[in-house]
Amino acid sequence: MKLTLSVLKADVGSIGGHTKPSEKQLAAVRATMAEAQSRLGIIDYLVTYTGDDIAITSTHTRGVNDTEIHGLAWNAFQAATRVAQQSGLYAAGQDLLVDAPSGNIRGAGPAVAELEFDHKLSGDRPAESIVIFAADKCGPGAYNLPFFLAFADPMYCGGLLLKPEMNHGFRFRIMDMDHAAADHVVDLVAPEDLYKIPALLRGETRFAIESIYSRASPDQQAAAISTQRLHNIAGKYTGKDDPVAIVRTQGIFPAPEEIVLPWTMAHYVTGDCRGSHVMPIAPYPINSSVRGPYCLPIVSAMAISLDAAGRFSEEVVDLFADPAYDEVRRIAMQKAMAMRAQGWFGAAMANEEELAYTGIKSVIAGLEGKWTDLARNGHETVVPAASR
Ligand code: MG
Ligand code: MG
Repeated sequence: MKLTLSVLKADVGSIGGHTKPSEKQLAAVRATMAEAQSRLGIIDYLVTYTGDDIAITSTHTRGVNDTEIHGLAWNAFQAATRVAQQSGLYAAGQDLLVDAPSGNIRGAGPAVAELEFDHKLSGDRPAESIVIFAADKCGPGAYNLPFFLAFADPMYCGGLLLKPEMNHGFRFRIMDMDHAAADHVVDLVAPEDLYKIPALLRGETRFAIESIYSRASPDQQAAAISTQRLHNIAGKYTGKDDPVAIVRTQGIFPAPEEIVLPWTMAHYVTGDCRGSHVMPIAPYPINSSVRGPYCLPIVSAMAISLDAAGRFSEEVVDLFADPAYDEVRRIAMQKAMAMRAQGWFGAAMANEEELAYTGIKSVIAGLEGKWTDLARNGHETVVPAASR
């Protein structure tokens, strides 16, 4: 059967600032999903949170961008918004940027990652293992480095050397997120394009991996990442994008242990406080609040198996709950405090393009007319235009 995995995520309000949604909000989302499950043919679903974002992970056979599945998630997020309003929570309905989305909800605020595949539990996929990632206080480009290393660098993924199917490499579909009107993408392949891919992925606020495909079986999609940029939708800063991702693992794809290894470096990403600074991203258990200083970015990872009917395993494994990641969180805090020690200066704050959506633009615009041009060939001063 053709099975679709959908991860739809939104921040629709949280307790005492940007921390976590309330249990009542989560219950409202679960109730909306339960009511519609059989009517829409949803095979299974999970409702989780990462920081202030609620994620709905579901399986169904309706394909990607399905109006009904997206509409249901929108209704669930609206139900959680009403709870947030009643409880006086912070930023109720923040990510619901349009009144009523027509069709699918891509471009309406919530993050969307979806992947459709032939679910057969035979041949090259005798078992279907997946990892669902959700990150808070960062943009879609946060996945660029760890996913590139896991799918293209044998220093992180021994399978590229050890597994004949993986020896063919992977195709990366990369989106230029500055094109708000359309999904502007380019396909590059590893290993042939090994120096071109990082040339794009280094620019994490503009370019993001949108999907990854096996080159052994070209129709086998390995990963899907949400690439929505909220500031492109809203035209101003309305909260960070907080991306989600689906990764299929094992067999012709990297193993979960290869997928998570790059997250042990706690790499620096743009996000955190006001989405306008640079901080390391730290692995945290699923359903963690954001409580770190300056909104330290966090990422969670759930390992799940699917049965023949497309149902999730009764138990899921919370990968970053392992004590091994205590050490990474310690490294992340050291890196965080090192960056925060220089406050607003240079690399500690987001780049110019990102800050263009914040109040700093009007501060600089307010200095218009106060600048003076000094003559280069002497000491004479040109009087500012505003003073003439
Ligand atoms: Mg938020
Ligand atoms: Mg968030």
